[in-house]
Amino acid sequence: MTKPRIGWIGLGHMGVPMVGNLIAAGYALTLYNRTPGKADSLKGHIVSSPAELARQSDIVITMLSDDSGQESVLFGKDGVFSAARTGLTVINMGTVSPQASRDTAERLGKVGVDVLDAPVSGSVKPAQDGTLVILVGGDAAVLGRCQPIFDLLGKRTFHFGAHGQGSVAKLAINMMLGMTLEALAESVLFGEAGGLDRATLLEMIGETACASPIVTLKLPSLKVDSYPAAFPLKHMAKDFRLALAESAGLDIPSGRATAASFAAAESRGLGDSDVMAVIKSLK
Ligand code: NAP
Repeated sequence: MTKPRIGWIGLGHMGVPMVGNLIAAGYALTLYNRTPGKADSLKGHIVSSPAELARQSDIVITMLSDDSGQESVLFGKDGVFSAARTGLTVINMGTVSPQASRDTAERLGKVGVDVLDAPVSGSVKPAQDGTLVILVGGDAAVLGRCQPIFDLLGKRTFHFGAHGQGSVAKLAINMMLGMTLEALAESVLFGEAGGLDRATLLEMIGETACASPIVTLKLPSLKVDSYPAAFPLKHMAKDFRLALAESAGLDIPSGRATAASFAAAESRGLGDSDVMAVIKSLK
């Protein structure tokens, strides 16, 4: 069967390795990024607008920072919407609000475009390894058509239901992720304040029941106290803002406290560092 033509918008930390896996599997990709140059290392056809990309694609995938990035690429000047047509599919894999996912599906659906929200759990390494966990909202038949692509990008796909439900699932798992890293940072600071050596403390954590995969992943950067971005802290702060906006009436005290901690870290200029740099803000 002929492979669909894929257009990819958003070549940041996640977009580049994900595109690499699709190209390696033999897909022909058309690429667009707001800041030129980021596609240069990839074997794809680079275009100068999302509309041009959509005209040359059967499936458009976005991997963008947030709601405003998605709005601008899809519905702004020379956006995907201006090339919308029946038969086109748009998949949003970035973390945006559930409302943005529902609105996108409604606006594009009116002009015959199929839409999925399909944000991912997993950072740069799983993106490179094709072992992301993909969280989908939207029509099951559309998901069925896109599954071969998801199988190259991830190890497991979960279908949560209607448009926006993939985005809800993503905010749920990132709330847990953020609280885990906040707990790790606070435990390390507590131990150090009590006179413990950081390297030994980290080694001990790595041997305990607390050594989940994400905790284990962050121990080396804590050891050298250096936080080059894999998952930029500004995105975690954004994810907590989106989660809190969805959480009216819910009793989630740790979630609210952790949201405040990441917001403070971002306001202290740590947004482009890795999410684990929250420890610098707490210190
Ligand atoms: P990133 O490195 O910051 O890249 C963001 C991408 O969005 C860039 O291509 C950027 O273009 C583009 N962009 C942002 N605002 C835009 C706008 N207004 N118009 C057009 N393009 C815009 O982000 P990332 O780490 O790849 O993450 C992408 C998404 O996946 C985010 O929603 C994040 O929360 C989520 N996510 C990230 C990770 C992770 O570990 N990094 C893991 C899971 C999920 P420029 O190059 O021009 O800035």
